[in-house]
Amino acid sequence: MITLVSERLRHEAERLALRFCCEDCAHYAEDRGACGNGYPVEPHRGIVLSEVEQVTFCKEFELA
Ligand code: SF4
Repeated sequence: MITLVSERLRHEAERLALRFCCEDCAHYAEDRGACGNGYPVEPHRGIVLSEVEQVTFCKEFELA
């Protein structure tokens, strides 16, 4: 799901320590740099909200 990144989202994500990237997902296979479910990781890996105008949240994300 593509979401526009507003200042409000940035502020709330920081305040609530929002985790949504592959690196914090239970399905991420760090040794392979890949998703254990076979999804592309590029849209969700290493995203810094202060550096992007939009973000694609992964519906399969599960906090590790
Ligand atoms: S399920 Fe989604 S968030 Fe989790 S590792 Fe795979 S692509 Fe990344």
